[in-house]
Amino acid sequence: MLDCAIIGGGPAGLTAGLYATRGGLKDVVMFEKGMPGGQITQSSEIENYPGFYQHGKTGMDFMDTWQEQCFAFGLKHRMEEVAAVRREGEHFVLDIPGKESISAKTVIMCTGSTPKRAGVKGENEFFGKGVSTCATCDGFFYRNKEVAVLGGGDTALEEAYYLSNICSKVYVIHRRDTFRAAPSTVDRVQRKENIELITNATVEEIVGDKTGVTGIDIRDAAGNISRLEVPGIFVFVGHNVNNSVLKDSAGNFICDINEQGQVIVDLNMHTSIEGLYAAGDMRINAPKQVVCAAGDGATAALQVISYIQEQA
Ligand code: FAD
Ligand code: NAP
Repeated sequence: MLDCAIIGGGPAGLTAGLYATRGGLKDVVMFEKGMPGGQITQSSEIENYPGFYQHGKTGMDFMDTWQEQCFAFGLKHRMEEVAAVRREGEHFVLDIPGKESISAKTVIMCTGSTPKRAGVKGENEFFGKGVSTCATCDGFFYRNKEVAVLGGGDTALEEAYYLSNICSKVYVIHRRDTFRAAPSTVDRVQRKENIELITNATVEEIVGDKTGVTGIDIRDAAGNISRLEVPGIFVFVGHNVNNSVLKDSAGNFICDINEQGQVIVDLNMHTSIEGLYAAGDMRINAPKQVVCAAGDGATAALQVISYIQEQA
């Protein structure tokens, strides 16, 4: 029986693993379906992680040392996808397709979230080369340049506003003429002089060359296509929380989840089920930043250590 199973090997999972092993837990295993590192490994550069300021270092370079550090302290890693977590009596059982189930006293869920893609031509090809889903992360690369934002929800308009303080101009492209975002946010955006709202419009194609994005083709309501020459487009069309592991065989969640599919936790990252924690992008009100996910992972692991000690 494991002391702690960590599901997901992004910043939250790796940090939880580091704290759990350094904190004296003996049997801690991190399950990661791909390579450890998480979403940030898709980023061409990271410059907002305190203490790490090396121009030109990719997200992959950045995460490389995290793994090394965790494994040096005894974190075990299994490159496997966990299909489901079940509560069985006093402990948890992890279902791993094609493998024997694993029992654990505690589980820290760190499976993150996946920004939705809009499904536009060129979006995948130029992802990380002008197509971004993170204004906090990549906005600065477009300082004093014009950029486009796709979407009409709270995220799109709030991020457009954030970008308007960095970029010379922000074009918001939305497929309808009314916005899903809160009226006060819409009003704030409409009053910002360097934001232009292009409504009833869709992005036909994101175009570029080997340097990255060079423009986007926009289709208006009449079907006319025009090109907007911008070096970047931010796609904010919603997020999918990677929460399917928490569903039972009947499709019901084993712990409390909000309407957006985020796991409800308290300030200790504790879910509504004893011994089950959730950290990083998958939890309610996640700021969706590496530094925050890492902090969550540390908090959850420290709670697990106390919990295991109390149970002993
Ligand atoms: P994730 O990083 O999403 O990691 C979750 C991990 O769980 C993944 O590795 C996944 O493979 C694994 N997993 C999922 N389901 C399972 C399963 N069933 N079984 C096993 N493993 C599973 N933040 C910043 O602070 N600065 C930046 O500059 C920045 N740039 C970004 C650029 C891009 C392109 C993107 C996409 C995001 C960026 N972010 C940035 C956001 C940051 O990457 C996330 O906030 C952070 O990675 C969240 O960490 P996490 O550990 O919660 O989840
Ligand atoms: P969202 O509310 O689902 O909005 C997604 C937006 O993207 C919508 O405007 C949608 O258009 C558009 N869209 C979806 N698919 C598209 C596609 N393929 N092509 C083009 N456009 C597409 O997502 P969100 O903005 O990320 O917000 C998620 C949740 O978090 C919401 O409940 C939101 O209120 C909440 N949130 C709250 C705050 C806050 O309270 N400050 C901040 C951020 C997010 P349609 O409108 O036409 O469907």
